[in-house]
Amino acid sequence: MLDMTPKEIRVRSGITINPCKTCEPVGAMFCALGVHNCMPHSHGSQGCSSYHRTVLTRHFKEPAIATSSSFTEGASVFGGRSNLNTAVKNIFDMYDPDIIAVHSTCLSETIGDDLGSYILDMEIPEGKRVIHASTPSYEGSHIQGFSNMMMGFINYLTRKTGVPTGKTAVFPGWVNPGDIREMKAIAAAMDVPITMFPDFDGTLDNPMTGRFEYYGEGGTTIPEIEQLGDAQSVIALGHFASQESYELLNKKFRTQGAVLPMPVGVAFTDRYIMALRKYSQKEVPQSLENERGRLVDLLIDASNHTYRKKVAIYGDPDVVYAMTSLCLEMGMVPKYVITGTPKSEFEKMTKALIESYNLEEACVVKADTDLFYLHQLIKNEGVDLLLGSSYGKYIARAEDIPYVRAGFPVLDRYGATIQSICGYRGGAYLAEKIIDALLTRFDRDVKDEDFECVL
Ligand code: SF4
Repeated sequence: MLDMTPKEIRVRSGITINPCKTCEPVGAMFCALGVHNCMPHSHGSQGCSSYHRTVLTRHFKEPAIATSSSFTEGASVFGGRSNLNTAVKNIFDMYDPDIIAVHSTCLSETIGDDLGSYILDMEIPEGKRVIHASTPSYEGSHIQGFSNMMMGFINYLTRKTGVPTGKTAVFPGWVNPGDIREMKAIAAAMDVPITMFPDFDGTLDNPMTGRFEYYGEGGTTIPEIEQLGDAQSVIALGHFASQESYELLNKKFRTQGAVLPMPVGVAFTDRYIMALRKYSQKEVPQSLENERGRLVDLLIDASNHTYRKKVAIYGDPDVVYAMTSLCLEMGMVPKYVITGTPKSEFEKMTKALIESYNLEEACVVKADTDLFYLHQLIKNEGVDLLLGSSYGKYIARAEDIPYVRAGFPVLDRYGATIQSICGYRGGAYLAEKIIDALLTRFDRDVKDEDFECVL
């Protein structure tokens, strides 16, 4: 299907082809689904809301609930205040959430709806909450929308009571429920009490019980968010999804903590664990050291199959940066590393990471770009592996490249969201998938006389 992609790369502006990102409200909706008994609300047309829900539902294979202000021509001209007031009343009457998280869309941003003042003036039932985030889609990406909604919760809800919770707050960034469980398991193994915010464990991967419920049992509760200002420390994972929220909390309450990369691979998982240790003064148990040792052993065992193999990594900046680290630990060459999210910091950080491995090979690192560009790069110099979201499958087919799905979204496979690529165990899972893809291709292409059972 991409046979016509030209090899010649020309400078383009004003057009994106096969984007490597989606729109801000998708991130805002996702973030809100990590809060207990929360109804995400899209302030715009039904079409926007349907699209955002569809992307999330297809990735998580779970219904992503959300409501809409259902703009028609009238609201588009005169503003959406009355639609929002009616929506909020109906939502509390019909779906009884604890909180409604409103995000804007292109349309409501363009006409200038002031959600903050609408919420201040509206009638909200006793004990219920309404918050908002501004998420215009003509800038940023879904990662910025996620970050904006996190800051919306922090702005509206957090307060300092002066009573320390004794907990470490963990901002996991844009990850799957399986990753959240792994991050929690590491903290539990170290006996460190944490508050995960947001928390998708039990909201977007609910067990099949046979009962229909709007809201899962999981998610960060409102009191937990309120108490973030009293947290002992904050560990924000992912510079692009979590850093702004960390800085906001720090500005409000002078909370100590750190912004770290997603804990994928050996070095980045070490950093998460050492931060937990530093702020809690708890020791690292032997069980985690054993997990680390097993991952290192796996990477060494397979190194003759992964060393110098070229990989193209694409997707969201935090996960791409973290997977680049794991690939470097496997001795691979991250030949092309791209994200659609427009953050130049991504290029600086990723180039520095690659340089720290003294790679002689020239690698292309680019933010704010698309999969068309990645395909053109591959046409000029091929790679041994593609690593990223489901949208890469067209390139993998066109160029006949081994391919591992990871990140967001994974639309055409099942089970990705309940697995983890975080922590040492998650690193072993992702490494195993990479090794398997490379060896499956080796077995396919090797001559009969070299076809071996033992590799
Ligand atoms: S109109 Fe804007 S908010 Fe709506 S789906 Fe399109 S990009 Fe997203």
